[in-house]
Amino acid sequence: MIALFGGTFNPIHKGHTELAREVIKAYELESVEFLPSFLPVHRVTPETSASLRKQLVEIAIQPYPELMLNSAEIDRQGSSYAVDTLQAITEKCPQQSICWLMGADSFNSLLSWKNPADILNMANLIVCARPGVNLDKTIYPRHHLQQNEQLKNFSSGKIVFYSMRPNNCSSTKIRKLLGQGESVTQCLTQPVLEFIKLNHLYKT
Ligand code: ATP
Repeated sequence: MIALFGGTFNPIHKGHTELAREVIKAYELESVEFLPSFLPVHRVTPETSASLRKQLVEIAIQPYPELMLNSAEIDRQGSSYAVDTLQAITEKCPQQSICWLMGADSFNSLLSWKNPADILNMANLIVCARPGVNLDKTIYPRHHLQQNEQLKNFSSGKIVFYSMRPNNCSSTKIRKLLGQGESVTQCLTQPVLEFIKLNHLYKT
């Protein structure tokens, strides 16, 4: 079983990589594939190009062989709907069990995504708590799995809630701090920060 981790990653931060590494252990996953969106659907188009965001992901995951890049949404271009991505990936690898990894803020907006029921038909969801976000547990309640360790017995259709060590990193906060010349070393690794500065991203 693998997990796909969709996001804008503008920029990728330690909240993302730590979450991915924790869920691999918690659910005995083979890997987590980071899936940077080309055109995120539920937010304004990022100023930083998909290619630069993808390079940031590559740099951040480089120390961890269990974390991978999946450039399906960037290669496809256009609006990055999760359901379209899952469709393409399951057609290519029909035997692969897939989890879609997301934070509580993303889960709370699930019903506004394109064809969310189809997403559940093709994947399990691993939802992670996020500081300051109240998880909406009324979404698809019949799909909630009470015993997390049972997840490996289902190839799709189940939702589990994972409590990671709370991590306050957020891309929006990082962009703001970088723009003000403040320190972000708690949330970005040195190689990621160097790439950002080299390319003058986020007004650095
Ligand atoms: P922004 O601050 O602009 O909302 P972000 O930090 O959420 O950005 P995204 O690329 O949008 O970054 O996040 C991708 C996924 O990772 C989302 O599902 C989000 O909920 C989750 N995520 C991001 N940061 C954290 C965190 N600190 N803890 C748990 N989940 C997180």
